[in-house]
Amino acid sequence: MYVFDPPKQASLAVQGTSDRFPVRRIFCVGRNYEAHAREMGADTREPPFFFTKPADAALDTPCTIAYPKLTQDLHHEIELIIAIGKGGSEIAEADVMDHVWGASVGLDLTRRDLQGQAKKMGRPWDWGKAFDQSAPIAAIKPIAEVPSVEKGRIWLAVNGVVRQDADIGDLIWSVREHIATLSCAVTLAPGDLVMTGTPAGVGAVGPGDVITGGVEGIGELEVTLAPRA
Ligand code: MN
Repeated sequence: MYVFDPPKQASLAVQGTSDRFPVRRIFCVGRNYEAHAREMGADTREPPFFFTKPADAALDTPCTIAYPKLTQDLHHEIELIIAIGKGGSEIAEADVMDHVWGASVGLDLTRRDLQGQAKKMGRPWDWGKAFDQSAPIAAIKPIAEVPSVEKGRIWLAVNGVVRQDADIGDLIWSVREHIATLSCAVTLAPGDLVMTGTPAGVGAVGPGDVITGGVEGIGELEVTLAPRA
């Protein structure tokens, strides 16, 4: 017996069905598009690195969320999402797609001011990245119906004005490469999500803004920041 009711399983919608995808962990790839790495002042040739968000940061879209606590500089990051359906360790690049259940599009919402302070002080990124409702994600598309995780437009607009516009073919480390690398650091499990990194054009959003975005052939999302009360 548990001493109190365990938390509800975090989960996401699946395209074309009322079934839910149970979320286990959320891994995020840092600086995976060259132009974004440059806009963040980084070397673009370093090996892929990862950070995490809690599973219950994931939420279905469309959604309306409150402007997060502590920040004055909330940034949007549109990302291709890979949903793992079969676990594994030290997965070969050639075998990665056998472990993928589906794909989607999501936001790696970032408290950029807190992330910047953490970088400067050599502290963990958690308060910049791993906060409540920091991963709104569209319904997951089963991989058999996904045309490609290697090519396709990825875009984001704020109040209808396009800010991020690139192609997932521009990923520095492809899905096969970064998931193979990730599986050498942890044993992947069904329900794990990988946020694959954002292209250039990140920027601030505020209360009342409407964020739309998508990955061609995979899905689209809409996230509204609640107006100031
Ligand atoms: Mn990101």
